[in-house]
Amino acid sequence: MSETGSPKTNFAKTDLRRHLPAVASLLAHPALQTARARHGERALTRAIRETLAAWRHRLARPDAPTTLDDASLIDEIVERLGRLTQSNARAVFNLTGTVIHTNLGRAPLAESAIDAVVQAARHPIALEYDLEAGRRGDRDRLVEELLAELTGAEAATVVNNNAAAVLLGLTALGAGREAIISRGEMIEIGGAFRMPDVMTAAGCRLVEVGATNRTHARDFQQALSEASGIIVKAHTSNYAVTGFTSSVAERELAEIAHAHGIPFMIDLGSGALTDFRALDLPHESQPAEAIAAGADLVTFSGDKLLGGPQAGIVVGKREAIDRLKRHPLKRALRCDKLTLAALEATLRLYRDSDAPERDLPALRLLTRRDTEIAAQATRLAPAVTAALEGIASVRVEACRSQLGSGSLPVDRLDSHALVMRAASGRALERLERALRGLPRPVIGRLHDEALWLDLRCLAADADEAAFAAQLEALPRCWEAA
Ligand SMILES: *Cc1c(COP(=O)(O)O)cnc(C)c1O
Repeated sequence: MSETGSPKTNFAKTDLRRHLPAVASLLAHPALQTARARHGERALTRAIRETLAAWRHRLARPDAPTTLDDASLIDEIVERLGRLTQSNARAVFNLTGTVIHTNLGRAPLAESAIDAVVQAARHPIALEYDLEAGRRGDRDRLVEELLAELTGAEAATVVNNNAAAVLLGLTALGAGREAIISRGEMIEIGGAFRMPDVMTAAGCRLVEVGATNRTHARDFQQALSEASGIIVKAHTSNYAVTGFTSSVAERELAEIAHAHGIPFMIDLGSGALTDFRALDLPHESQPAEAIAAGADLVTFSGDKLLGGPQAGIVVGKREAIDRLKRHPLKRALRCDKLTLAALEATLRLYRDSDAPERDLPALRLLTRRDTEIAAQATRLAPAVTAALEGIASVRVEACRSQLGSGSLPVDRLDSHALVMRAASGRALERLERALRGLPRPVIGRLHDEALWLDLRCLAADADEAAFAAQLEALPRCWEAA
């Protein structure tokens, strides 16, 4: 929109612009002293300047407001100050129905992991320092023993994320040689992570064997040559090949690789450190199984089904892990102390807790019973209905949650949702915006001409209370949306 109208209409408006108060007088305004005490003079001055600039802009337009009062100016300053000082990393409600949601930061941490992060953030810690020997140590030491114990591996190392773990593994063990992988496992995880591209980035020459749906042991055997560097297996974590399928067992692949004198690496993606079937969840491969099958390297994420911080965990044979640790890329991909502290605390729960599924929020959300979620939806429906009166209808309906982040792509968990329907598609989109405009934004999912809030990830404690408490702001957010 143009900043200036015709000179004629602008003439009268210019006067109103002259009536805008000065920054200093607003800064001293009695109605702004609470905000000033709370957020400080610097932030308040910025909010005042921005608000005045917005008003100057508005008053210069042909459709400029004809009145200007202090009260609305002050309200706007306070609101702008609120937005200015609000963290970009503030909490949101994940009611998308995807439990481990990459765009929403994946797994929430366990309380003990949060405490460990706070300690490590506040104080020096023995990160690369051997307290017993009193000399320099290796930062993997914080978690290596725990990982070895939990997976049965000889050694372990940790990097920034699983994509980094795969890159490091392939680079350290396969650069300059051929990496052999089944055609059915040429995965794309999303973003720019595609197995063939990662292999290229790692300096490996890709050799695909078998067909999309079936790969046999002889396919690998025939592909082996002097140039072979590594055999790779990737967990097809975000899709499933079903029907007439066949793949080679991990144990057999390990034998084929070792008979040829080359290493075998498995990218598990998620990797569960506990038996999911015992929790009434669909089976998810465990790193321990891959290690027992003879893999030299097994990679998996710290923040998927494991329920810890973002990290790429590599467990395996001592010799292979040592090659990763010695590689210059390790330094570029390593984790910081906050991540390692959180990961250590998370792993301790798997080793020591009587019930990790209770202590780890990710597992707690995944194992919530549908009956409990349905009761919660019924409990919340009247207040949500009241808040949306004249805006949308609200019903409690059954739905299916996903585990998320490419974990167990075809499996779904029974759940319940608050389902909102409005008069038009536009109204529905406006409602979605209004929910995102709440002090703690609510993220749902548009599906089938309705907005679904899957309550699986709304813990029935402080979270539910916080959700209910901010409903009163919903009509205001609707107006602003
Ligand atoms: C998720 C995933 C990755 C990437 O892991 P990030 O932790 O997101 O870096 C790689 N491989 C597989 C099989 C995955 O599922």
